Amino acid sequence: MRLQYWFFVLAALSVVAVAQAPAPDSPALEAEAHRDLAKLTLEQKIALLGGTDGYFTQPMPALGLPKLKMSDASVGVRTWGPTTAYAGGVALAATWDVAFARVLGQALGRDARARGVDFLLGPGVNLARSPIAGRNFEYLSEDPYLNAALVVPFIEGVQSQGVVATVKHYALNNQEFDRQNASSDVDERTMRELYLPAFEAAVTRAHVDAVMSSYNLVNGVHSTQNRVLNLQILKDEWGFQGVLMSDWGATHDAVAAANNGLDLEMPSARYMNARNLLAAVQSGQVAEATIDDKVLRLLRLWLRYGFETARPQFDPQDATFSVPDRAVALAGALESITLLKNTGALLPLQPDRMHVVAVVGPDAWPAVTGGGGSSEATPFAAVDLVTGIGNLLGPGVSVLYARGLNDDATALCRNTRWQNGVAVQSYGSAEFTNPLGQSKQPYLADWRPAGAGGRGGPGGRGATPAPAPAPAVRYTASFQAPQAGAFVLLAGAGGQDSFHVRVDGKEVLAKERGDGQVPKTVSLTLAGGQTIQVVADYVPRAAAAFSLGIAYEPDLVSDDARTFAAKADAVVVAVGFNAALEGEGHDRTFDLPWGQDALVEAMLAANPHTIVTLTGGGGMNVSRWIDRAPAVLDDWYPGQEGGTAIAQVIFGEHNPEGRLPVSFDRVWTENPSYPWYYGTPATDGGPADRHIVYGDKLMVGYRYWTTTGKQPLFPFGFGLSYTSFTFSHLRVPADMHAGDSVPVSFDVTNTGAVAGAEVAQLYVSDPSARVDRPERELKGFAKVQLEPHASRQVTLTLDARAFSYWDENAHKWTIDPGRFVIRVGGSSVDTPLQADLVLR
Ligand code: BGC
Repeated sequence: MRLQYWFFVLAALSVVAVAQAPAPDSPALEAEAHRDLAKLTLEQKIALLGGTDGYFTQPMPALGLPKLKMSDASVGVRTWGPTTAYAGGVALAATWDVAFARVLGQALGRDARARGVDFLLGPGVNLARSPIAGRNFEYLSEDPYLNAALVVPFIEGVQSQGVVATVKHYALNNQEFDRQNASSDVDERTMRELYLPAFEAAVTRAHVDAVMSSYNLVNGVHSTQNRVLNLQILKDEWGFQGVLMSDWGATHDAVAAANNGLDLEMPSARYMNARNLLAAVQSGQVAEATIDDKVLRLLRLWLRYGFETARPQFDPQDATFSVPDRAVALAGALESITLLKNTGALLPLQPDRMHVVAVVGPDAWPAVTGGGGSSEATPFAAVDLVTGIGNLLGPGVSVLYARGLNDDATALCRNTRWQNGVAVQSYGSAEFTNPLGQSKQPYLADWRPAGAGGRGGPGGRGATPAPAPAPAVRYTASFQAPQAGAFVLLAGAGGQDSFHVRVDGKEVLAKERGDGQVPKTVSLTLAGGQTIQVVADYVPRAAAAFSLGIAYEPDLVSDDARTFAAKADAVVVAVGFNAALEGEGHDRTFDLPWGQDALVEAMLAANPHTIVTLTGGGGMNVSRWIDRAPAVLDDWYPGQEGGTAIAQVIFGEHNPEGRLPVSFDRVWTENPSYPWYYGTPATDGGPADRHIVYGDKLMVGYRYWTTTGKQPLFPFGFGLSYTSFTFSHLRVPADMHAGDSVPVSFDVTNTGAVAGAEVAQLYVSDPSARVDRPERELKGFAKVQLEPHASRQVTLTLDARAFSYWDENAHKWTIDPGRFVIRVGGSSVDTPLQADLVLR
């Protein structure tokens, strides 16, 4: 299997070898760009500064230049119909494989060419600061070094195919809630050390030809007009030569954007149009040279890539359905699946011992290939987990499937037996003062509150348009538990609404305005006959509807799932998120979607050979059952070949080799960004409606855990294998000059009986620094494939940046000479090799 997969990957690489990388700009090209510029009137130049038709640049007939076509993004070229859906983003980060990052970039570049796409609107490289951020799955990891290391070959791979890569979202898009209005407020050092390095590497090392700004503001200024980000850092300091485009609808001011570095407004020239900019040039607010600079950037790309002029737009050799790319999709899934627990070596299961296998859970079928939003790629065909396991086991084994969960929130709310219905009290203010009308409802399922003086009614699809809702509504109800046990309490509302739910006076659920995580649920343990009072304070926005319900948890799990699990030799229960629950424009919950904990617990109770698979863009709350689960693997979002890959890992055809690209917290409240995450409403009268102060500073992910000496559930860099590895013979020069490159070498040995891959990780500590630094920081890694009992020497080279921190006084990278500690091992906490190094 392994051989076959590498055959396809190598075949994919050989397709790549014939593609032409764009030639570096020559003086002749520069002269031609200037000659073209000189042929354009000011109006024609301004016309080029905004997009058209959703995903195109404007054509320039005066120069014979066509409009250029764009497509999202990093997990599949998705905008123009079905495509190959890869394990990208966080799954790519879980591979820790720079060679594979290039293969994936090349595959996406080929897919783009096959669709006539000139700009790929990816990769996304924002840091995974918090596990609930809605787009983490599209991005990479919590570590700037790992992100930079992967993004460089990825971009080179895309651009080698004659397709412009667009690194995004510049910068600090680390949450989705309120993403258009909130300002990420960060200090200079934190920004430089954590949030910018992947962008910096994309520009300075990979020579990315396009950058996309973020929706969020940075330090109170919209990214599209942020002088510090766009002019000082991106263009002046990093020397970015390409096109800085806005995110779709992220431009807010023609003159401010034009003067502060934005080159292209997407998807259309709402602001940077002739009406605004002609007048601004004439009045001297915007220099014509500023417009010229933007146009020249676009012209250079046109010429550099030879779009439509030097290369045919259509080449029948570029397959839209690509067999080599399917192999790349499978390779990514195989390399990224991360084994988190394997008590008693339950895995791998032996296929020849299996007679009946139960595959259960909402993520088992249909295939969950990726998260939602603008990255969501529709594959021609995707392999779900049931099919993947069935194909692998063949006709001799019975595969039983049950979804296992009744998770219809509306039905749950409709079926809730409140003791005397729900009392509804509307208020004339969002502060719950000025009482308006009262009413009583038997239940609240998509319940649309009345406007001031109006009547409430059922919401949901097909409902008549609502009058403006009352500013605040309080719902009060009582519930008596018919038996003892766990009950799920659920509250749902629109993504823009906020609510707080109290049980017997204690807040149990809260939703911030705009965080998008709905429904919110909590598990309550009640005694038989116990009565609770539930009060929900709801602040609706436009077109709002509210739901509230409670159900006995074991009732959520279907009988067939329990029966199948009891009869099977092994159970695979697939839980986690999907494109509807985790995606662009809203954050997700840290808790598993409601009912899934109960489902896992029921499967574990029914069968000791239960394997849990997790799907999602990062850590999630598994604390209810993790101690009881013998085997757990994280498949991230595994792309279209996910079912095949997970089956190969479970049944031992592929030895798992993924490593966590994020720390896996126990609960969301222990994440270091938690106290800072939602920020505070703005009071400064500026353009931001909310300021999110990055008070966690450098304490993101494993930097926090290792500095505080605490432990997350699973540490960054961790992942199990079916074999074992040792590290030995660390060689570090004792003494070097600050600024020298430092070679570090060591041996990795496979001490087990099967072939496998280890990710050797190198962390640097700087105990003698003049400033506080994180206890350790990743500064090198290598993925090492080893046959049983084989050893390999690995040499990693540490450059000056590996020892530097950002000096906020001098505004530059600085090394404090003195003692450094080099640690090497298999995760951020398991570093058996250690040596000192003195930099003079
Ligand atoms: C997303 C971008 C995407 C663009 C075009 C925006 O909503 O934030 O990542 O490239 O849409 O689809």
